[in-house]
Parts: sequence; C-alpha cells; structure tokens
Amino acid sequence: LHLAGKYIQIDGVMANRTDVWIRGGGVAGLTAAWHCHKAGLRVVLTDTGTIGSGASGAWWALMNPATGVNPTPVAGIRQAMVGFELMRNELGLDGVGWIRAGIWRPALDAALEKGFAKAAANPEWPAGWLRMDRPMHGLAGNGLLRVVAGYAVDMRLWLTAVAAWLGEQGVDIHEQVPPHHTVAATNQVDCVGTALLHDPAWAHLKLHPIKGQLREIVVDGIRGHYPALSARGYAIQTDSDRWIIGSTYEHDFTDSEPDAAYDAYLIDRFRALFPQPVSATVVGRWAGVRIGSHNRQPVLARHPEDGSRWAITGLGSKGLIYSQILGQDLANRLTNP
Ligand SMILES: Cc1cc2nc3c(=O)[nH]c(=O)nc-3n(C[C@H](O)[C@H](O)[C@H](O)COP(=O)(O)OP(=O)(O)OC[C@H]3O[C@@H](n4cnc5c(N)ncnc54)[C@H](O)[C@@H]3O)c2cc1C
Repeated sequence: LHLAGKYIQIDGVMANRTDVWIRGGGVAGLTAAWHCHKAGLRVVLTDTGTIGSGASGAWWALMNPATGVNPTPVAGIRQAMVGFELMRNELGLDGVGWIRAGIWRPALDAALEKGFAKAAANPEWPAGWLRMDRPMHGLAGNGLLRVVAGYAVDMRLWLTAVAAWLGEQGVDIHEQVPPHHTVAATNQVDCVGTALLHDPAWAHLKLHPIKGQLREIVVDGIRGHYPALSARGYAIQTDSDRWIIGSTYEHDFTDSEPDAAYDAYLIDRFRALFPQPVSATVVGRWAGVRIGSHNRQPVLARHPEDGSRWAITGLGSKGLIYSQILGQDLANRLTNP
C-alpha cells in the first residue's frame, strides 16, 4: 500500500509541478484520479482526513442503474457501467465476495409494480440489464424487477483497493494533509464532499446537504441468502443473519451523527420486503452527508474565473454511477482542452 499514512511534507511534489491535484479521497476523487491517470496525466491526491472518511464510506452501496419508482436510464449510464467493470477487472476483484452482481427489486406496492413493468418494457435500456419476473417465493411484493446489471459494493474495501492500485501505479496519495497545504498543479479538482458547501469559490453551485443513515442488524425469521434488495431503501445480506439496511433522506438535521430515532423507520422498510414476520436488532449505526444539486443533476464544474479549478459534486445517492461519468468526462476535458 502506497498511502503516506500520517502526512509528511510533500517536497517532491512542490518542486515538480503535477498535472492534476485532486482534493478529496472519496468515490468522486478516487474515480477521477483513476481516469486522469489512465489518460496519461500526473496525479496527486490529498485528503484532510482518510480515504473514504466522508459520505463514500457508507458500509455497502448499490451501483444501481435502475433506481426509484420509475427507473429510466440516465445519460452516460452505459459508459459508467463499463468504466466500473474495467476498474473491477484491473483491480483483480472479479468474483470477490464484497462486490456482488445483481440487485432484486420487489414490487411492494402498485406504484412500484407499474413503474417496474414499464421499465422492463422500455427499449432505451441496454439488452439484458433488466427483467420483470413473477413474485419470488420468500419475498413480498407483486412481481420482482431483476436489475441484472447492478452491483452491491463494500465501499470501504472498494475505495481502499482503488487507492492501493493507484499508489502502486505511482499516483501520489496522501492522507491527513492539513487543509491549508497546497500542491503545485496545472489543474486543481475539488472533490471534497460537504467541505464544498463552505467554500465561497463554489457558492454559485447552490448545493445542499442530505443526511443518510445506515444500520447493521441481526435478524431472526429469514432463511436463505439473497442478492442485494432494493425497494424503498436497500438491504444487503452480509451473513446468514446479518444485514446492512438504509437509508434515510434527511434535509433538516443539526449534526452528522447517527440517530437512534431512525431505527424503527429503517427496520419497518426492511420488514416490508418479506411476507413473514421478521425481528431485527440493531448492532451498528452509521451516518454520512451527501451533496445534492439544485436540479438533482451531478456537477462537473469549471470555475468561471479560474479555469484551472474544477469541482465534482452533487452525486446525491448515486456516487458509484456519477463518479464514473464525471471522472471520465474530466479526464477527457483535461486531455482535450
Ligand atoms: C447513507 C448513505 C447511503 C449511500 N448509498 C449509496 C448507494 O447506494 N450507492 C452509491 O453509489 N452511493 C451511495 N452513497 C454515497 C453517495 O453517493 C455520495 O454522494 C458520495 O459518496 C459522495 O462522494 P464524494 O467523493 O463526493 O464525497 P465524500 O465521500 O464525502 O468525500 C469527500 C472527501 O474529501 C475530504 N476532504 C474534505 N475537505 C478536504 C480538503 N480541504 N482537502 C482535501 N480533502 C478534503 C474528506 O475527508 C472526504 O474524504 C451513500 C451515502 C450515504 C451517506
């Protein structure tokens, strides 16, 4: 692992100007670093905390191309899936248990049933990505949308693997760098998560924070093993009786800590996935704050006055997908100005 651990003065970098300085080691920063490195650019990445210490450190996250009640493909989704799969292959993570292919979406109510059936029949979806099936024994709902192309990802392991690979390729990655430290670079890319909200340089982006919480639960009453489940909220089985469930969408909050008051809300949504009574005990709580943009679109911004400064933000709850689209776009724009 080429992580510098505790920060030490980056003398070499200061003397030798780099092409791209990426601030922030979440999914946005690391994915951008990957694509810039692949495009032949020299990259330095710094984080004031540690890799994955922001919203990207959600225990498990879905790379789900078909989210919401009416799943429709977002622009760039094909290229995002291909980018992710190329990374997974290059990292040697094919068949590794903490990246699982396929997501099942039980149609728990009439709105989901209608939306899923429409999605499965929508020819805009790449062939083989979605399939509507009859109700599945062991799951609630009137029908099941199988998102064949989706993935469930253990985010901390994913981010650590990406950082380690980049380090081995000679990308400078430094954690716990004091915020006032600067790196001499032709381009600076801010992938700093919630810190962007407090940076006057980016005030014009009109961003807002959304808090989300996850729970780890021990469950009684469920037999068998399930792929990642997603209806209203998601659930990932990590062991025969253990699940990670989430998440909340809190627009008004005073701190970024987990709050036990949301246990019942998350457990109710989990129980709704199964026809039989299920009991659950919370054994872990996690919270993170993701950034939303005013029009819910992800943002790759170039600063209006300083053209060497960029930001990637507004990934909302689709960090794995949008970081691919924007990271690839950034690398293209920096190499073909
Ligand atoms: C509850 C929850 C559930 C989620 N579920 C999903 C999901 O199912 N699918 C999915 O794709 N995504 C999911 N996510 C992730 C979500 O998509 C986020 O939008 C995404 O993680 C944001 O990534 P980011 O890299 O922009 O920010 P962050 O992950 O917040 O990273 C910002 C980084 O910048 C660092 N930093 C801050 N200031 C500075 C500075 N001055 N200099 C250098 N570094 C700095 C921080 O230490 C941090 O490491 C979830 C998040 C939450 C909270």
